[in-house]
Amino acid sequence: MIKVRFAPSPTGYLHIGGARTALFNWMYARAQDGKFVLRIEDTDQQRSKKEYEEEILRSLKWLGFEWDELYYQSRRFDIYREHAQRLLDEGKAYKEGEAIILKMIPDQEIKIFDLIRGEITFDSSELKDQVLMKSDGSPAYSFCCVVDDALMEISHVVRGEDHISNTPKQIMIYRALDWKVPKYAHLPLIMGEDGSRLSKRYGAVAVSDYQKQGYVAEALVNYLMLLGWSPGNNQEKISPEAAIKKFSLKKINKAGAVFSLEKLQWLNNLYLKELETPQLVEMLQPVLEEHGLDASELSGQEMANIVQLYKGRLTTLNIFAEWVDYAFLRDIEISGEMKHKHITPEAVEVLHEMARKVEAAGDFSALEAEKIFKGIAEARGFKASQLVLPARVALTAKDVGPSLFEIMAILGKERTAKRLSTISA
Ligand code: GLU
Repeated sequence: MIKVRFAPSPTGYLHIGGARTALFNWMYARAQDGKFVLRIEDTDQQRSKKEYEEEILRSLKWLGFEWDELYYQSRRFDIYREHAQRLLDEGKAYKEGEAIILKMIPDQEIKIFDLIRGEITFDSSELKDQVLMKSDGSPAYSFCCVVDDALMEISHVVRGEDHISNTPKQIMIYRALDWKVPKYAHLPLIMGEDGSRLSKRYGAVAVSDYQKQGYVAEALVNYLMLLGWSPGNNQEKISPEAAIKKFSLKKINKAGAVFSLEKLQWLNNLYLKELETPQLVEMLQPVLEEHGLDASELSGQEMANIVQLYKGRLTTLNIFAEWVDYAFLRDIEISGEMKHKHITPEAVEVLHEMARKVEAAGDFSALEAEKIFKGIAEARGFKASQLVLPARVALTAKDVGPSLFEIMAILGKERTAKRLSTISA
């Protein structure tokens, strides 16, 4: 049976790299009808924190990577000690104070048949004796990794490329224990767009932070899939179910994967605009609350109209609050720079006239707003486009956004007239 594991150390939050490792393990298990083990590697009692562990579990659940078995290394110290003792008894390890150390046998060829990277050969003469149990009684990473992978019957170790250098050491531990070595697949590194290590700026941010910023799990999972793998045929948007059908470890790229926030946002937009408006409205309520925006005076229909207008361009849920605050605020604040650029004395005069016409209008709608606007532009010999920016800034305090006339309809007659009439240079 295929059995894989994701083995995070709870010494930090779950980041993009860890989430991708978890995803590929989970997909492989599901693709092969195998089992997915989650193993919390919390042997370092100084650096492991409950808070990190909880965030890792919560994030994995949010992403939908359900595990079949869960283990904590901190509860398995007796098992590690027992196997270290066996190596001592067999003369394969020795004691140095309280520490137990494996004797490295020199001149051994160590071959890894990595499913992604192909054959990699090491010589055991390059390796030093390996600490198995530290003098404080805690096990060393490579030792408990081997003991657990063997006892948990892990068939494939799928992990980041940064662990390649640990693999020969771990194979020598398997040999000392007379255990079968699992198969390996080392995933390519994830780099920032400038080719450097993934930094805070380029995605080395906790999965829970992406969730807070208003990325949906489906989009993040879809994005993680593309970091080193591709469904083929230039397809980029794919559901986990469809991806699992096509997934194989052999098709993962050797070359480093590049993290692109822009691409993640593009995918998030695709998923957001597929949602039904009422569902999106519901998802946006907490975002508005968090940003101190009060939507209680708007009817359900008004709220739906606003969301409908922005739906196509949303890159995250949070950006909605930034883009649409003007619809919820009584007074908007136009930056000095924007005023200086767009609200000239000449523009003010036109905007005031527009205010009077809006006020005098009967039924006010986007269509009516457009009529008024175009009428004024024509009468004064302006191109409509010359007036769009001043009006947009006066109404929203922003210089980009969707259709100005739709915005006027959303604000309604009173608020549109008020914002236009009170504008000054
Ligand atoms: N606990 C290790 C880490 O967080 C995992 C090592 C492994 O997958 O073997 O990097």
